[in-house]
Amino acid sequence: MSMDDSFDEECDYLFKSVLVGDSAVGKSNLLSRFARDQFQLDSKPTIGVEFAYRNIRVGDKLIKAQIWDTAGQERFRAITSSYYRGALGALLVYDITRRTTFENLRKWLHELREYGSSDMVIVLVGNKSDLSNSSRQVNIEDGQSLAQLEGLSFLETSAMENLNVEEAFLQMINKIHEIVSQKSL
Ligand code: GDP
Repeated sequence: MSMDDSFDEECDYLFKSVLVGDSAVGKSNLLSRFARDQFQLDSKPTIGVEFAYRNIRVGDKLIKAQIWDTAGQERFRAITSSYYRGALGALLVYDITRRTTFENLRKWLHELREYGSSDMVIVLVGNKSDLSNSSRQVNIEDGQSLAQLEGLSFLETSAMENLNVEEAFLQMINKIHEIVSQKSL
């Protein structure tokens, strides 16, 4: 898998995916890290979301990953089914320094399963790993066990130090690609 900088090239696939999780866990920062210079922030003010794109080459296919962010609206519970519609993947994010953001994952999972497709690829992300020594409230094992229980992939990331951010998004996109290419066989 490699990055492709040619933004306007014809794509084989367009994959929509979403970022979910409590307010201030780092979703926007993860997205801007991942989208880097290809960060094309766009917004749909009517439903209060922002999204960014990045082109990724997987084998001989060019994938345009379109990633939606809640733009702070999760505070107001204004996320609607249109946010999830057509999404093939999700990064489910919590903050390792705030236990409540981990406890609220059940609620987010419930929502993802209610509105998202049944084979949606979900990657669980424990963000702010740079604060691990000073203020960790969620052990890495807690993340691992939840992921195992719910059949999710799991990674700890730091948007601030750019640790595992690339890996989290690429894992999701790679798995979506596997599912989509199996379906089209
Ligand atoms: P969102 O509401 O989930 O989109 O969260 P933001 O991306 O706006 O981040 C919320 C706050 O957490 C901001 O003050 C960020 O600077 C901070 N933040 C985000 N990611 C990290 C991280 O990996 N490490 C640290 N230490 N702070 C982070």
